[in-house]
Amino acid sequence: MQDIFAEGFKEASYWWDLAPRPRLDESAPPDNTDVVVIGSGNVGLSAALTLARGGRDVLVLDAEAAGHGASTRNSGYLGRTVWFKYGDMVRRIGRDAAGSIAREAATAHDFAASLIRDEQIACFYSNTGRLITAPSRKVYEKLERDLDMMKADGVPVEADMIPPDKLKEEVASDLYHGGQVLHGNGLIHAGLYHQGLLDRARAQGATVVGHCPVTGVERQRQGFVVSTPKGKVSARDVMVATNGYTPKALPWHRRRVVPVQAFNVVTEAIDPVLMRKVLPRGRPMIENRNSPLWLRPTEDGTRLLFGGTTGEGDTSLLAKARQLHGELLRVVPDLEGTKLTHCWSGQVAFPFDFLPHNGLADGVHYAMGWCASGVPMGTWLGHKTAQRILGDSDARTVLTDRPFRTIPFYRGNPWFLPFITAWMRRADRRLMRD
Ligand SMILES: Cc1cc2nc3c(=O)[nH]c(=O)nc-3n(C[C@H](O)[C@H](O)[C@H](O)COP(=O)(O)OP(=O)(O)OC[C@H]3O[C@@H](n4cnc5c(N)ncnc54)[C@H](O)[C@@H]3O)c2cc1C
Repeated sequence: MQDIFAEGFKEASYWWDLAPRPRLDESAPPDNTDVVVIGSGNVGLSAALTLARGGRDVLVLDAEAAGHGASTRNSGYLGRTVWFKYGDMVRRIGRDAAGSIAREAATAHDFAASLIRDEQIACFYSNTGRLITAPSRKVYEKLERDLDMMKADGVPVEADMIPPDKLKEEVASDLYHGGQVLHGNGLIHAGLYHQGLLDRARAQGATVVGHCPVTGVERQRQGFVVSTPKGKVSARDVMVATNGYTPKALPWHRRRVVPVQAFNVVTEAIDPVLMRKVLPRGRPMIENRNSPLWLRPTEDGTRLLFGGTTGEGDTSLLAKARQLHGELLRVVPDLEGTKLTHCWSGQVAFPFDFLPHNGLADGVHYAMGWCASGVPMGTWLGHKTAQRILGDSDARTVLTDRPFRTIPFYRGNPWFLPFITAWMRRADRRLMRD
């Protein structure tokens, strides 16, 4: 069998090479604070930054090293959309609600992009736009209709349709029936973005303690007691920001999100001529289907990052690396012979309505359910949740306090995922035939 692994292949996030896992104070947390934030991903840190700026004493606790979760494992797409394609969202929740959520997603993107600029977070942000590829003519036409509808509904969107005969100007693939370029979407180095948020939050005075899992949150007459193996902390407010890693200790939240594994691989350095052929404009690509594959250049433009939500069957990283390598060659056959240097996975969280949520349950604030696009939306709703804790009258968004449902007997163990994945694959095969 062809060896697809380059020398020194790592089963670890590529982003950790430039942004190694931070070493933080891991002593016992303080006994008292104003706000405990559970989870030190982008969401927890975005909230911590705003809270610290608002004069609150903030303690961020993480079960693992800071940023252990999806925030330093994602693909670094900074988008302006939610999970649903616009037309699907209109069908599900109506045109008014869909329009306001799509506008909120654009606001989330702009917030994250201006945070990077204003805070001078050196994370290789570039405003590349995003190519969405259509697996069939029917999908291409739907992308076109959705775009018209978004424009008619006042959603701030700038996009160009890419007909099939022009697709090679975007990606060296014969697999698709054209696509759409969404402008105003960016790319970041996921590890450095998280590192920047961590540094800014700590510089404002937030305390971040790693390897300190929260094991319980108890409501008191005034405030809360948060338990950890290293001691108890009293706090006036608590915020949950654990998304796809939500533990059993937070049963209300765990019942409301379905964790799904997603995987990424990175290739060895690619000949610059081939690189220009594969992604001529250096624009990230993502497929328009239920279980999409994505492809982008790394921050220095020398390698490719490729991924998908292929979380069934043998989920060992070596098996997934082989599977993704096969998929990569199917999408871009010119990459035959290219080896991989990294493979890793992370957990995303899907609520049952496929929409992001922030709100308040039994006095505890939360922000979660990003459906694999939480970098901008999570940064935004982390900030808005913090504003709410600060008592800011402007803290609500259209996603705040929407009903956050679970289903009977679900406790956070998604036994039904293999059935849903199989259904999605069947639907995707149908899409490709249409
Ligand atoms: C492979 C992959 C690719 C992705 N690509 C993109 C992309 O390109 N663009 C995009 O927008 N989104 C992407 N996402 C999704 C995005 O990464 C997430 O939505 C976002 O990072 C979630 O941030 P968060 O802070 O809510 O959660 P996380 O970053 O997952 O952090 C949750 C934290 O909670 C901690 N925790 C768990 N239990 C406890 C406990 N008991 N006590 C204390 N802490 C606890 C965990 O250790 C973890 O650090 C991707 C995700 C994956 C996995």
